[in-house]
Amino acid sequence: TTIPALSEGNHMLKVIVRVRPILELDSSKASCIICDNNTLFLSMPTSRTRGRVSVNSQKKYEFSKIFDQKSTISEVFQEAYDCIEHASFGGRSCIIAYGQTGSGKTYTMNGIIEQSFYALKKLLENENIKVTMHCIEIYNEQVRNLLTDLPLSKNWNDIVSIAEIELQNDWVSHGLSLIDQTLKRRATRQTSSNEFSSRSHLIYTLKIMSGRDTGIIQFVDLAGSERLIKSSVTGEMLKETLLINKSLSALQDVIGALESKQNHVPFRNSILTRILQPTLGGSESKITFILNCSPSESCSNETASTLALGLRLQ
Ligand code: ADP
Ligand code: MG
Repeated sequence: TTIPALSEGNHMLKVIVRVRPILELDSSKASCIICDNNTLFLSMPTSRTRGRVSVNSQKKYEFSKIFDQKSTISEVFQEAYDCIEHASFGGRSCIIAYGQTGSGKTYTMNGIIEQSFYALKKLLENENIKVTMHCIEIYNEQVRNLLTDLPLSKNWNDIVSIAEIELQNDWVSHGLSLIDQTLKRRATRQTSSNEFSSRSHLIYTLKIMSGRDTGIIQFVDLAGSERLIKSSVTGEMLKETLLINKSLSALQDVIGALESKQNHVPFRNSILTRILQPTLGGSESKITFILNCSPSESCSNETASTLALGLRLQ
């Protein structure tokens, strides 16, 4: 059975899939995913192609684009490009990576961020602009400014307002080197404490101010979406997982409310959605939602639930 996606038109939300290759770390080397990107839907007004993906040859999921194991970051970036272009014209854009731990969120998002900086540079070549950035981590509904690596704090509003820094003239290399530092810091923290980075949300916000207007783009590397194996999780980890689930469902609720054009959008239900409000909340905002999937047979349940979530969003 195929569940058809809603007709697209001038949609602000685009949901795409990226499947990573089978890796050494996979406990099963068998792939459970079949991708088909060339399904031609003659019934659609423009007869455009969409992608279909199936897990264990069962249900087929349909999305606007599927990137299989062999896809490159440049190909994936093409699908995020309209978000970048939109922000360069003063619009609001948000690019989000969702999926279980190990599915390739950070790999994909880091690639997209780098390409985005270069693309923005080109788009804004002849403009007189000022660019600011902040890098925020959310863990257990607390917030940390990753550019300074101060401790986590509950005062998210204060942290976010002071975390913003103005990039120097050569803003592409300045911005990318700051991001590189935050990633290195995060990696060392991970080995010194317990596995941490996959349990926190990471948000990079770029503001582009030109004479006329301010474009904003947010890049979001979400915490792992894996569900609880109830009996084995207790204490701090239980709390952690419940808060991740809570914020991921708050994000779904916000996107759902925006999609169905409801008057009330529940931004206030989590820190994640509050911090993303500047880009999700605009009337003309563009969202690219990436479903990151591992093809390994051993991940098939999580992969199916990631795809099902994407289906509910679009
Ligand atoms: P996540 O952030 O979802 O936990 P990562 O991005 O850290 O996952 O990816 C897990 C592992 O898979 C890493 O070693 C990463 O380098 C590798 N990986 C992810 N996506 C790809 C890809 N498209 N091609 C090659 N290796 C990948
Ligand atoms: Mg990661």
